[in-house]
Amino acid sequence: MSSELFKIPKEVADVAKTLENEGFEAYLIGGCVRDTLLGNKPKDWDITTNAKPDKLTSLFQNTFYENDFGTVGVVNEDVSDETLKVVEVTPYRKEAAYSDFRRPDSVSFSEKLEDDLARRDFTVNAIALKLEVQTKVSEYKGHLVDLYKGRADIKDRVIRAVGNPNERFKEDALRTLRAIRLSSELEFRIEEATEKAIIEFSDLLKHISAERIRDEFIRILMSDKPMEGLNLAKRLGVLIFILPELEAGSGIKQNKAHSYDVLEHSLRTVAHSAKKKFPLDVRLAALLHDIGKPKARRWSKEKNDWTFYGHDVIGSRETEKILKRLRFPVKVVEKVVKLVRWHMFFSDTEKITLSAVRRLVRNVGRENVWNLMDVRSCDRIGTGRPKESPYRLRKYHSMIEEAVRAPISVSMLEINGGKIMEVTHETPGPRIGYILHALLEEVLDDPTRNTREYMERRAVEFSSLSDEDLKTLGTKGKEKRESEEEKELEVIRKRHFVK
Ligand code: ATP
Ligand code: MG
Repeated sequence: MSSELFKIPKEVADVAKTLENEGFEAYLIGGCVRDTLLGNKPKDWDITTNAKPDKLTSLFQNTFYENDFGTVGVVNEDVSDETLKVVEVTPYRKEAAYSDFRRPDSVSFSEKLEDDLARRDFTVNAIALKLEVQTKVSEYKGHLVDLYKGRADIKDRVIRAVGNPNERFKEDALRTLRAIRLSSELEFRIEEATEKAIIEFSDLLKHISAERIRDEFIRILMSDKPMEGLNLAKRLGVLIFILPELEAGSGIKQNKAHSYDVLEHSLRTVAHSAKKKFPLDVRLAALLHDIGKPKARRWSKEKNDWTFYGHDVIGSRETEKILKRLRFPVKVVEKVVKLVRWHMFFSDTEKITLSAVRRLVRNVGRENVWNLMDVRSCDRIGTGRPKESPYRLRKYHSMIEEAVRAPISVSMLEINGGKIMEVTHETPGPRIGYILHALLEEVLDDPTRNTREYMERRAVEFSSLSDEDLKTLGTKGKEKRESEEEKELEVIRKRHFVK
């Protein structure tokens, strides 16, 4: 057993030390050891110990029960790093009988580290690290307990089941999807016997809860290589249990403008969304934007080609069904449904009038319109054509900016029609409109005039004018508003170099 140096945060090492000072064993375990060996930053820190849950809660000041498996979260309040806020400590476990392909029927604690390592899913996740002494800030001498040669598999970049793969996937079918998720995140391949076992037992995924599937699916999507992950899921027969609707796009030829079938196009689209590091909802929309295509496809004799009319509408309904089934939060469902529903908008060149863009902004939501553009740009890359016509793209951007900006209008004024009638004793009629526009012209000339006092005083003054004079002033104000409005739009268009 040779010692080596490991970079470990003090907050984590201290939890292990506290346990050891009380005479218990404590090992860092799982993803944090794997990621440390890879030189990656762990997403969370897990410790495994022979201390029991009640002991853990009494030993540490601030703790809570994380799940039904005896895991206790030890809380570090005053750290800024999110990954150090909770260190998860779990007693050694061995898993009793499995009867439903998911959870063990009962959790039993064990006295031995070996039992705990044997119940873990993959060799790269079954390496334990024992810390010995601190050598520097965040550096410790320690040694590995690596009973399943996980370190060699990390070096070879291989995901391999611990022990007999068939048994391991029968015990908990979620592991089939975890293997794919890890492969996708770490860019490791899956070892042959493990892969064969996934193919054989993937149908047991139907016993797994939608929430657990969703969480692994999200991680595939958020990895740098979701296209590879989802292709692997397809090849190993797992995709059909997560997203059969996506798999239905396999072999669905598109029209002549496309080089790829619907599935490959969808995967290439999501690949680009990952390359751009877009957030989850955009990646979901990128993946699902054409989900309605298999159902919408019709052969057109006139065009001598396939058409997909209505696939955006059908697709948004399918998207809602899928995301609800996977128990995504309502907010995510609503947003992705909108992005899928309106993803065709910018393909339709004839529709590009400012008022059509305004309508779009109302439909998709001001807060989502830029995400819609992102989905669209991924969609274009996903067709295999490298570039959007740069002019068109700039034009869209310009028009969205034009559509979302607040227009110049009398509603900007620190006074309204009601207030004008109150201070001037005018009665409802065209004079009120003229006064408002005359005031607007003054504010456009000098924005500092837009105060309640100034507005009220000037309203009273305008109110003393004859109908004719007031109309002249009001009309001048309207013209001024229109020319200022046009100037602002020009500024936007110039910025985007479009007409
Ligand atoms: P990350 O922290 O990056 O998500 P991880 O490998 O730590 O990766 P977790 O879900 O945090 O994944 O699980 C922690 C550890 O628990 C794993 O490394 C593995 O040893 C074990 N584990 C998790 N889920 C299972 C499972 N379904 N079957 C067997 N062992 C599991
Ligand atoms: Mg982890």
